Amino acid sequence: MTNEECRQLKTVDIIVPCYNEGKNIDLFFDEVQRVAADIEGYRFHYIFVDDGSMDSTLEKIKEIAAGVNAGSGNHGGVDRGKNGGAAASSDAELSSRASEVIECNDDDLVADSSDAGSTAGMLNTALPVKYISFSRNFGKEAAMYAGLEAAVRNGSDYAIIIDADLQHPPHLIKEMIRTMEDTECDSCAARRVSRKGEPRIRSVFARAFYKIMNRYSDIEILDGAVDFRLMNKKMVKAIVSMPESQRFSKGIFAWVGFDTRWIEFENVMRIRGESKWSVWGLLRYAIAGFIDFAASPLKAIGVFGGITTIGAAIYLIIEILKTLILGKDVPGYASIVCLILFFGGLITAVLSIMGEYIGRMYMETKHRPIYIEKESNIDENQRVSDK
Ligand code: UDP
Ligand code: MG
Repeated sequence: MTNEECRQLKTVDIIVPCYNEGKNIDLFFDEVQRVAADIEGYRFHYIFVDDGSMDSTLEKIKEIAAGVNAGSGNHGGVDRGKNGGAAASSDAELSSRASEVIECNDDDLVADSSDAGSTAGMLNTALPVKYISFSRNFGKEAAMYAGLEAAVRNGSDYAIIIDADLQHPPHLIKEMIRTMEDTECDSCAARRVSRKGEPRIRSVFARAFYKIMNRYSDIEILDGAVDFRLMNKKMVKAIVSMPESQRFSKGIFAWVGFDTRWIEFENVMRIRGESKWSVWGLLRYAIAGFIDFAASPLKAIGVFGGITTIGAAIYLIIEILKTLILGKDVPGYASIVCLILFFGGLITAVLSIMGEYIGRMYMETKHRPIYIEKESNIDENQRVSDK
């Protein structure tokens, strides 16, 4: 493929948040390579984000980066080509397969790009497999943000977020790209239509969460929506421009707007490794997400406070009238204790709801970075070349 032909290709950054996915990385990469090789007219680059993994994740990513970036002396993006069907069984095989599908050479393109004002000046100068490794585990939200931020710096036409555990079927990437082309929408996202194989308690919580979220928050999130989505540059920039450090991406995707189309898929079970979510962790995440996009609990507190005040006033008037008309009544202490307990509980609940909001405000005012990078193969010059 000539440089000119390579320049015509649209660039897609594949963002992969990874936390302790050492067992999955090779399989994932091989699968996505196979899908990418079958998509014409696009160049694919990977941005692996190692979220402070404690297993071999980073080593695996580095091996892949070394294999692809140096594979057969060719440094190009993953472009369409012929690829075998069997899964890679060794790193050497993986690297050679990776380089097999590479036809475009980014280094050549960069050399040409000195030609100021030409289309070459707009080229993505990224290495095909890049990685960012965090200093500790900051969570998937931070990993997705780091990947999107790198995609903005790359100036790629599109970015895809996809899980490393193959629960987001890579073959849908092709369908997403076709949908974006056909409908000229800004984003194409995936949605699980079944929860087969998922722990029952998790499905129950999830369904309740979507119902409450859609009813009481400012945004609408489809039940089953996952973070697997393809977005154009404009949408990625909008997401990265949202500076909150406590992030809830499902809400952010909805909040930024843009025309989004949905692709449905059946739930896929994790083959290797374990989910990082506990029931308690998911519950915390759901509450935090709700609070991020809903002020309705604060309003509900006000309404409840108003109703109880009116109720108390009416009760007081009735008591005064009873005393004036029927003579002095001796109230039982049981009713007083009940009232004290009721209002004590109410005040505590009100304070804890307010505390959630105040706590989140407090954390935001610290302006802490969303993540801290330990190492990366993204070169500093490229980071500032915001194309
Ligand atoms: N992940 C991450 N940081 C975390 C937890 C998860 O980067 O702290 C990644 C993980 O490696 C995977 C994706 O996010 O690629 C989804 O995680 P997981 O499979 O545990 O979530 P589930 O599919 O069970 O919702
Ligand atoms: Mg998963």
